[in-house]
Amino acid sequence: MTESSSEVDVVIVGAGFAGMYELVRMRRAGFSAIVLETADDVGGTWYWNRYPGARCDILSVDYSYSWDPDLQQEWTWSERYAAQPEILRYAQFVADKHDLRRDVRFNTRVTSAEWNDDTHRWVIHTDTGDDLTCRHYIMATGCLSMPKVPDIEGTDRFGGEVYFTSTWPHDGVDFTGKRVAVIGTGSSAVQSIPLIAAEADQLTVFQRTPNFSIPARNGPISDERLAPFLADPDAYRDEARRSAAGVPRETPLEGALMVSDEERTARYEAMWEAGELLGITGTFNDTLANAESNDTLRDFIHGKIRSIVKDPEVAEALCPTNHYVGTKRACLDTNYYETYNLPHVRLVDLRKDPISTITETGVDTESESFEFDAIVFATGFDAMTGAIVGVDITGRDGLTLKEKWAEGPVTYLGLMTAGFPNLFMITGPGSPSVLSNMMVSIEQHVDWIADALVHLRENDLDTIEPTELAETRWVQHSNEFADLTLMPTANSWYMGVNVPGKPQVFLPYPGGVGRYRVTCDEVVERDYLGFALDGPSGRIVNDGIIRELAPDVQVMLETMAEMGLPPIETMGVDGAREFMTASGAMMPPGPDVGEIVDGTLPGADGTPLEYRLFRPPTDGPHPIAVYFHGGGWVLGSATSDDPLCRYLCVHSNSIIVSVNYRHAPEARFPAAADDGLAAATWIADHGEELGGIPGQVAVAGWSAGANVAAVTAQQAKLAGGPAISGQVLLCPVTDGTTERPSHTENADGYGLTMAVMNWFWDHYCDRDDRADPKASPLLGDLTGLPPALVITCQFDPLRDEGDAYAAALADAGVSVQHLQCPGQTHTAVPAVGAMITSEYARAAMADALRSYLRTAANA
Ligand SMILES: Cc1cc2nc3c(=O)[nH]c(=O)nc-3n(C[C@H](O)[C@H](O)[C@H](O)COP(=O)(O)OP(=O)(O)OC[C@H]3O[C@@H](n4cnc5c(N)ncnc54)[C@H](O)[C@@H]3O)c2cc1C
Repeated sequence: MTESSSEVDVVIVGAGFAGMYELVRMRRAGFSAIVLETADDVGGTWYWNRYPGARCDILSVDYSYSWDPDLQQEWTWSERYAAQPEILRYAQFVADKHDLRRDVRFNTRVTSAEWNDDTHRWVIHTDTGDDLTCRHYIMATGCLSMPKVPDIEGTDRFGGEVYFTSTWPHDGVDFTGKRVAVIGTGSSAVQSIPLIAAEADQLTVFQRTPNFSIPARNGPISDERLAPFLADPDAYRDEARRSAAGVPRETPLEGALMVSDEERTARYEAMWEAGELLGITGTFNDTLANAESNDTLRDFIHGKIRSIVKDPEVAEALCPTNHYVGTKRACLDTNYYETYNLPHVRLVDLRKDPISTITETGVDTESESFEFDAIVFATGFDAMTGAIVGVDITGRDGLTLKEKWAEGPVTYLGLMTAGFPNLFMITGPGSPSVLSNMMVSIEQHVDWIADALVHLRENDLDTIEPTELAETRWVQHSNEFADLTLMPTANSWYMGVNVPGKPQVFLPYPGGVGRYRVTCDEVVERDYLGFALDGPSGRIVNDGIIRELAPDVQVMLETMAEMGLPPIETMGVDGAREFMTASGAMMPPGPDVGEIVDGTLPGADGTPLEYRLFRPPTDGPHPIAVYFHGGGWVLGSATSDDPLCRYLCVHSNSIIVSVNYRHAPEARFPAAADDGLAAATWIADHGEELGGIPGQVAVAGWSAGANVAAVTAQQAKLAGGPAISGQVLLCPVTDGTTERPSHTENADGYGLTMAVMNWFWDHYCDRDDRADPKASPLLGDLTGLPPALVITCQFDPLRDEGDAYAAALADAGVSVQHLQCPGQTHTAVPAVGAMITSEYARAAMADALRSYLRTAANA
């Protein structure tokens, strides 16, 4: 490509690691491509950030390209964490080796870009006046490349030397004999402060929010740490690509509260000694999800800070208390906390004494005036979106990206955004990006984009653009993931909070690098699901949603799949029962109730049936609900749905009596159905003895238990009692024909399978008997039944049976509330404390019980 060319296949903006590799891939694929770069050389982050102490905080062996295998032999890192000059030299080495600079226009800033819908081309405008036209426009502009303008009054007034860590002078700065201020205490400040202190006469650090930092323990990398890489570099890289954050690490199996205090401290000490960023929150599996667990880590690091920093007041000021560990980017340091023990270093806590203005000679806080020779601003970046909307981008129909993203960025996979055909972002918002080893994320995006362009060319297509449905649901999915973590609780740059006026949304995708890669690959495998592709060969709109499962459900299913458990129906009845008991014991127990009473009541044939009564912690007497557990009429017991029963008890303020109706195959149909009625009758009759309000009961149940509850309501009506005030049916079995679409669509892969459901039916009920309403309540007379809440889950084989039952109840004139739960599976709602996204369904169950029972009690 020559300087004079104005039309190319691809324009890439940015010559950092992303733009460099994208150029390589474009060349290899035979596209004409040109890179536009503001700087006068390659390197991006490592070109600009030349402040003292600048270095990576992911081990260099991990933070390096994998696409050129020879590089691994040709380049050896001198330290665990290479410093900026060495990383820049690495970028330059790669540029030389692959002769990249001939296709880069340096000293060229892209100012605006417009999509021409007639020519299907982007027109790119630059500050040099040279415009370019291209088919594809790739923003490799970096997540942390747009420095944040300090929002401090008087910044322009200072007459001394002013430095920004993000645009440090190339010749370096000598602070010898000077009075220096550093404003900010993020990663760049933590890295530079010890080195500035080593030179300066006086150093004053102005801190608004302290950050968590652990010692980097830099130096040559140990043979032990390097061994897995050297043993098999390809396997090592592959593991990185499939990992959570782009670095091979063992996934911890335990939560921080699952081990003894001694064990926990020992593991945190090991983390402190290891000096790896991902180890900080990677010691236990719940650090970023559970506030109590995170508190243990916070306390540990506070203890370390207090043990290092001699002045207790300074130590306290350095202890972060307003955010959980890892919810802001944590730091690795070399002698950061120790620096505050030096007599010429002072910390000013701006939470106690805010800056009122910067003056001609220094900084005024509300209570003090400081004089300085130099001020260093380490005030961070307008992260993830700053450099993208820093260019005025206009897409189809005059829509600007700034307008589209006014309420926060909307992307599909962090790669593209609807209305802006052929505009790609590398590590854009909505992708793992800054939550990962960026090198791995960059390479994945570059490869995905290159493959997409080749796909278009091979199929005579010239545009690609996500659908609005696909991107809206991706944003929702990413937000749902974030909401499962503590991340959104912090005022962090991940949330855009550091930039005044920036919309506050969680910017990166928090589901992890490996899971994200699988998702992107699946989009392609499913013929670019969620994209519209257009060209001479026609327009293909493959609208759809790539991730419909709620994220916690997705993670649970993935975990189960990894465990490789045999199917329940192959375990035999005893084996299946043991399995169910064992897996139930691993679930969170549910909330505390006032009292638990275990007893027996007579079943339909006089067999004593065990029950467990859950009494609320409030003053009684309380109304009563009879609960029937799940388990396909074969598995389960009065205690197997304990967490859900506790939840319903506390949240509906009612007594819940969970009944162990007789099970198949020992007692086949209609034993369970008949026991349901017998139990409800006995409990209604003995309400006073049980400490409740007698006379009326509600019925509730899950799965086969919901079948028993629905049948009990019907049988009670036919028998003229007991009085049932309402029925709460969670994922009910209502129809033994099992021929509805959900039986096929959701037959496998979502926990409850049709194979096990058929196994349950076969144990419980002969085929001929399944037409009996006591087996298939959908076939019964539904008129005159008590009000009902029917909850169905999108990815449940039983979904359509439940939906049909809700519709039939409504047709029969029954007051029915039908809650359809998108993204949920059959087993999600009962998992109290484990499945967070289904909380609303549990709350609806409790609300329904409360309203049925209170209405009845007041009648
Ligand atoms: C101090 C610091 C330390 C970091 N340490 C790590 C680490 O240890 N591990 C890690 O994974 N990540 C780290 N990062 C993140 C780092 O940004 C990425 O790892 C990676 O370097 C990003 O590469 P990139 O090519 O995507 O973007 P960048 O390296 O940011 O390059 C983007 C380029 O685009 C150019 N550009 C932007 N807008 C325009 C425009 N309009 N016109 C022309 N050119 C433009 C910029 O000048 C820049 O050169 C760090 C970031 C910083 C700031």
